[in-house]
Amino acid sequence: MLLCLLLAAGCGPLRAAVAETGVVLPVIMYHSVLKDPKRTGRYVVTPERLRSDLAYLKKEGYVAVTGGDLVAYVQGADLPEKPVMITFDDGHYNNLRYALPILETLDMKAVVSVVGAYTEEYSRHPDPNPNYAYLSYDDISALAASGRFEIGNHSFDMHRQSPRMGSDRKPGESQADYRAAFEADARRLQELLQEHCGFAPQIYAYPFGAVGEGTKQMLQELGFGCSLTCREKVNRIHRDPDSLFSLGRFNRPGDMTTEAFMEKLGLAISKTADIIVHNDSKAVRERVGNAWLPRERPAGERATAALAEVHSGAAPLKVSRGGRVRPIQRPRRRRLLRGGP
Ligand SMILES: [Zn+2]
Repeated sequence: MLLCLLLAAGCGPLRAAVAETGVVLPVIMYHSVLKDPKRTGRYVVTPERLRSDLAYLKKEGYVAVTGGDLVAYVQGADLPEKPVMITFDDGHYNNLRYALPILETLDMKAVVSVVGAYTEEYSRHPDPNPNYAYLSYDDISALAASGRFEIGNHSFDMHRQSPRMGSDRKPGESQADYRAAFEADARRLQELLQEHCGFAPQIYAYPFGAVGEGTKQMLQELGFGCSLTCREKVNRIHRDPDSLFSLGRFNRPGDMTTEAFMEKLGLAISKTADIIVHNDSKAVRERVGNAWLPRERPAGERATAALAEVHSGAAPLKVSRGGRVRPIQRPRRRRLLRGGP
């Protein structure tokens, strides 16, 4: 109904819809990538499964974006029509060994958020073993230089569950003491990366997804433009810097098929999308999960939806079995089961 009102106003309905709904951004969280299928688990996927996920996203028209792309969007640049963010936490060396070639083959990019203490250890004692090693400063520089990875800050040494949960406030700790501890830790890794790799990240991944009170402002003051949690939700990005903080992410366990995982995210568009068609404007809005994606589609185009919802209007359309969009005789609202591919 809101869209109808926007259409009646007669100017830039699609742009208005974008302004109203924001850009939908799903974020996927990977950790370790290992070849041995017996080692897959909640935080380990095989290279084959990673490749399958990324190929699926590419086939569905998703384009991978980084924190830098999001910051640029807030500052006025465009985002792809269907952005997705691929993230890897903890800075496993196997991300370089196995994930980088897959990103290169599929022409995609990702964010890897490193833990400073791990990087220090493996820079002092290089031991490039994909089974357990973490990225050294040289590895991080190589990933950044590849143009396929943006580097994120995953704390210098707060990737622990004691004495505090990640970088959250300790029980009984004053807010002033907490602020000092959080800022010193995040800043330390920023400075080390600047010194050893020549850049400071603009994205912060909260260890264990624990978001401490007041940390958005602290991160902004430290120069970060974006932060990541582990809350499983799809995000909406606006031209507002605050909308880039505490982004939700979906952990990718190794034991789910690509199709099952994407369905969980609401990205299995061909199975779950809803479509609303307005004949007068040819405007179509497509729902993915709980989010609305504005589109422009000609009447008669085959829709990819299995569930279709048709709203009444001056000359309404319906999406029939097989996903074909065509006019109907009178205003009606209908929900159809099963449809396109
Ligand atoms: Zn982590």
